[in-house]
Amino acid sequence: MTHHKQVPPQERSGAPLLEVDRLTVTFRKHSLLGGTRVVRAVNQVSLAIAPGETLGLVGESGSGKSTTGRAILRLVPIDSGTVQIQGRDIASIRGRELRATRSQMQMVFQDPYSSLDPSSTIGASIGEPLRVHRSMGRGEIRARVEELLTLVGLRPSHADRYPYEFSGGQRQRVVIARALALDPQLIVCDEAVSALDVSTQNQVINLLEDIREKLSLSYLFIAHDLAVVRHISHRVAVMYLGHIVESGPTNRLYSSPAHPYTEALLSAIPVPDPRKRNQARRVVLQGGIPDPSNPPSGCPFHTRCPYVMDICKQSMPEMTAVDGGGEVACHLQTSGPTLAGRGLNELAPASPHAMPDEREPRNETPAPLG
Ligand code: SF4
Repeated sequence: MTHHKQVPPQERSGAPLLEVDRLTVTFRKHSLLGGTRVVRAVNQVSLAIAPGETLGLVGESGSGKSTTGRAILRLVPIDSGTVQIQGRDIASIRGRELRATRSQMQMVFQDPYSSLDPSSTIGASIGEPLRVHRSMGRGEIRARVEELLTLVGLRPSHADRYPYEFSGGQRQRVVIARALALDPQLIVCDEAVSALDVSTQNQVINLLEDIREKLSLSYLFIAHDLAVVRHISHRVAVMYLGHIVESGPTNRLYSSPAHPYTEALLSAIPVPDPRKRNQARRVVLQGGIPDPSNPPSGCPFHTRCPYVMDICKQSMPEMTAVDGGGEVACHLQTSGPTLAGRGLNELAPASPHAMPDEREPRNETPAPLG
């Protein structure tokens, strides 16, 4: 996998392409016994993406990351907050302006088979948005389809074939070609490479990178696999139970995670080198994500956090700036033992749920808490 140059956000100039401010999405969950509960799937989420930037959005299943992506494209209703693309709030526009704005944002899903009509040639599938949204003749559409196929590494003659004639990786290339048809500025990739084997994943990620550079696109790259997200993202935001709990430049977030949840997700990435595995502390989280219709009080992560303190059960931590860039919502930043000069992984956990990786002997004892 090639590594692209990571441009720190402070070196990027101009207004953000996408700006999401305190986005909240709720669902009603009907129980079999007749009651209805409100689930706040996305809770006061704010994020921004610069032109040409990739923001990775990670979290376990049920964290709200996919709903965030869908709400940005207005595929699910927004309860409150704003989503602005190039300064236009998509919640307040209608009709032709909405259609034009929507065509600037496209989505690529995990399963290319279900996003392609099996009875249509891929040329017809890729050309469909052009037929619907642009008044182009047949010849023009064919030329554009062939151009798009070449852009995603397929042959122009592939336009006449059907989805079943392609491998999973090739079908995902077709879906990417269709997403590019209307010249979008933002693509929301929702687990776009998760169903592919590792070498095909790498090829599709490299393709997405090349296309981003060529067309100055921006991506919101949603995935549960942190190893994949690292390779493609300039910045990463981590979601837990509907909240963004940490965000920051990829290098800082992966080398010095500031939120215990980020630390736990990172420690679950397999370390292939046994010498490096020696130094890695493995944080094992107990239990799954709590019931989102009955979230914990205070910090939403406190029921699973190895560093939990009394204050965590009572009050929700505010977002605070992190050394090295980004923000974190954790009381350790303000009320806990000082983190000055130390990473989170130098603090001993308060509970036995976080423990050294027992597969390998450890050379050092973590510093005592406080
Ligand atoms: Fe853990 Fe408390 Fe930080 Fe929440 S606020 S992540 S419970 S230390």
